[in-house]
Amino acid sequence: MSERQNSIQLASSLLKEASNVVVLTGAGISTESGIPDFRSPSGLWSRYDPLELTFDRFCNDSRVRAKYWRMATESYPVLRDAQPNPAHQAVADLERAGKLLLLVTQNVDGLHQKAGSSAAKTIEIHGSSLRAHCVDCWAEHDREAIHADLVAGRTEAPPCQSCGGRVKPATISFGQAMPERETLEAFEAARNCDLMIVIGSSLVVYPVAGLPDEAAAAGAPLIIVNNEATPKDDLAAACVVGAAAESMSLILRGAGIPRSGS
Ligand code: NAD
Ligand code: ZN
Repeated sequence: MSERQNSIQLASSLLKEASNVVVLTGAGISTESGIPDFRSPSGLWSRYDPLELTFDRFCNDSRVRAKYWRMATESYPVLRDAQPNPAHQAVADLERAGKLLLLVTQNVDGLHQKAGSSAAKTIEIHGSSLRAHCVDCWAEHDREAIHADLVAGRTEAPPCQSCGGRVKPATISFGQAMPERETLEAFEAARNCDLMIVIGSSLVVYPVAGLPDEAAAAGAPLIIVNNEATPKDDLAAACVVGAAAESMSLILRGAGIPRSGS
């Protein structure tokens, strides 16, 4: 049996035994839905400098705000129109099978919800690109309406209708504080799960990259599904190397979990 087959078989048997699974996903689960991750040469970050688009600079400089919204206007239709792939569906199927304690996603693309994961068990720890809010009064704004304005030629960042403040896509930017309640909830779940599955994350962005350590310290086995090595592979009971959609389909099939959607 190949190393990949071995690790898939091990992952399936761990999943079969587990009943309180925490799933942690990153940009790699969505590349097969056509959304580039940070590393892809065609990715947005090859054309926009993330260090220029920090939260502080967004707040303090109207030109940075305008540039941020130009970038967001390029990426929004791709995220809005993307469809979930079998890896997102596998996570939703785990929930339907009653095995999911919590899904923590670093993604801002809304694809887990499109695949059927419930809002009650999903933490979008880096927020969502599909929503917008004011960073002064936190009023929600209609992302689609803002997008239409920008596409129609608006060149400045949209102002808040409620307070005149600064509206931003509802994502966590570089230099912006993580949402406190969600971060605490994710770490608590990591301590209480009986299995953690990480899918498509390079596990270098903290504090989220600390979740596998938390689960392992509490005695839960760890499965890492990724197409390259990660700094946490040494902690893992099984590292399934390869494309997420196929890997997750094989793992669920081996665990005998009913599939829907795909
Ligand atoms: P990352 O880009 O650092 O890592 C993605 C990992 O997935 C890489 O190791 C890559 O090799 C792997 N990968 C890519 N395609 C894969 C596939 N088909 N199957 C298996 N593995 C695959 O992403 P990250 O760990 O999520 O952290 C970076 C940050 O990027 C996050 O904070 C996230 O908010 C943000 N981001 C989100 C999206 C999105 O919402 N889809 C896209 C780009 C970046
Ligand atoms: Zn406001």
